Amino acid sequence: MNLLETVKVKYKMTCLADGWKHMYDVAVIGAGPGGATTSRYLAKKGLKVCMIDKDTFPRDKPCGGGFSEGLLDEFPYLRKRSDEFLKGVARVGVLHSPNRRIVLKGSVDLALALRTDFDNVLFESAVEEGAEPLVGTRAKSVRFHNNHSEVMLKGSESIKAQVVIGADGVSSMVVRETGLNRRWPSSMITACRVVEVPVKYNEIVDRYTENLNYHFYVNLGGLPGYGWIFPKLDTINIGLGIVGTHAQGLPRVFDSFVRHLKREKLLMQDADLSKAKGALVPTGGPLARSHVERCILLGDSAGMVSPITGGGIAYAMRAAKFATAVLTEVIEADDFGNGILEEYEKSWRGDFGDKFKDQLLAQKIFTSPFTDLLFEIGRRDETIQEMVSESMAESAEDGIDVKRLILRTMFVCLRASFKF
Ligand SMILES: Cc1cc2nc3c(=O)[nH]c(=O)nc-3n(C[C@H](O)[C@H](O)[C@H](O)COP(=O)(O)OP(=O)(O)OC[C@H]3O[C@@H](n4cnc5c(N)ncnc54)[C@H](O)[C@@H]3O)c2cc1C
Repeated sequence: MNLLETVKVKYKMTCLADGWKHMYDVAVIGAGPGGATTSRYLAKKGLKVCMIDKDTFPRDKPCGGGFSEGLLDEFPYLRKRSDEFLKGVARVGVLHSPNRRIVLKGSVDLALALRTDFDNVLFESAVEEGAEPLVGTRAKSVRFHNNHSEVMLKGSESIKAQVVIGADGVSSMVVRETGLNRRWPSSMITACRVVEVPVKYNEIVDRYTENLNYHFYVNLGGLPGYGWIFPKLDTINIGLGIVGTHAQGLPRVFDSFVRHLKREKLLMQDADLSKAKGALVPTGGPLARSHVERCILLGDSAGMVSPITGGGIAYAMRAAKFATAVLTEVIEADDFGNGILEEYEKSWRGDFGDKFKDQLLAQKIFTSPFTDLLFEIGRRDETIQEMVSESMAESAEDGIDVKRLILRTMFVCLRASFKF
């Protein structure tokens, strides 16, 4: 018996002696991309995992459903089941300036999916590896005791586990309960409106070509935020996000966005928008801390989302790998203190967390009055076009390199002044 098995048996015996009805190594709250991926990896390691979600699967999540195609290589079990969720890959990104006069194009590899299908594959993959689903059950609160943690459910039911993972999205209960974030300030949240419109494939090709050109709009209506159209094989996903401080303009800007798309023939006159939904996404960068004793956060609950595109699927799933590595160690060592959990913090920040700083700077540039000027400069230079459109397409693994962008912009200005 290896060390991990010994610890587990010892723990199980303690639990049984205590007469606990439910006992797990890890209770994962939320079975979206972050929670389901972590549950899968932890269960694969042989840990006893309870994956709790308030919804039953398949379920929808208001989203664009776009992510870098590279994600399918990073998580090969997804590639194997991609025919269940993949609705094409956009090969060209079309970026529109705030005044809509300038259009930049770049090549991208933006995989497109319906979240209902994609999340269901993630959910099933976790269950197949042995994670125990507890769905249709909202977690009400969490408590941390000396020798275990407890997730309170409806009525007097509770789940006991060594560690709790808060993967419960942007309005996370776990984050509130741990005091890691009381509420997102409106400047750190983007309010969105999104709809998936059914469209026949030949219409899609007519309007967006076989490359499934996707469109991204910066600062629609002069308000800080973004709009998008993702053409999938039999639907198009249209959405708009505006930073919380200006979000009262959302319905008006959404209507005018739709009118603009119709005028530009990017949307049919009779498009059914009746299923448009509102949703929030945290775009102000990650929380200062993503763990307390016996608890870690990942995905939207911790603010792991690109401040420029609002994309968070890949980050939530990547954080799952770091969470698994550290939690396996934590359980083996039977040490649930802050010291060892700090390793989780260091590893995800070292991998992708620090890039959010650059992206926040880029967000400031893209939401400034100079954005149209940046587009004007970018129009004259292919390198800038590629850099900007790739970062907006969530295709650049490293996000946007702001320093390189600024240097390149200066170079283009100098080149124009001296005509070399
Ligand atoms: C309009 C919009 C468009 C977006 N477009 C994109 C995009 O194109 N590409 C991209 O990469 N990202 C996009 N995002 C962001 C993306 O949706 C999130 O970053 C991603 O879903 C984060 O995954 P998660 O697992 O952290 O949380 P979620 O996917 O939100 O999953 C959280 C889960 O927790 C469950 N839950 C919540 N509270 C409880 C509770 N108390 N008890 C039990 N269960 C609970 C929920 O039911 C849910 O299943 C978009 C977001 C929005 C709002």
